[in-house]
Amino acid sequence: MTEPDLVEAERVLRERQAELRERIAGLARPPERGALLGFGKRIGDGTTEAISRLTDVGVGISLELSEERISRALAKLEEGTYGVCDACGGPIAPGRLAAAPESALCIECARRAQ
Ligand SMILES: [Zn+2]
Repeated sequence: MTEPDLVEAERVLRERQAELRERIAGLARPPERGALLGFGKRIGDGTTEAISRLTDVGVGISLELSEERISRALAKLEEGTYGVCDACGGPIAPGRLAAAPESALCIECARRAQ
């Protein structure tokens, strides 16, 4: 990979990482109790609340996984192994990195890992 490509990849990754961390921090915050106990609170409202919290947990997990992947890609940039597959040591196709700059596996290894 050329130097400008690496600089651009790092910029994109850091931007996404900051955005993900912000969203994760937002989800981790406990719900505001006052807001939930306002006017119009009826029996059954708690159910919707529980469901929306479960959805949040799922979203939170996938956000954390994305954040982990991005952290790994940034570590690879530092190590000088960016663009090299973590599993087989082969090159990761530039097209794959352009579409998903957080890739730490080549397309073959990513398929095998699924
Ligand atoms: Zn590989």
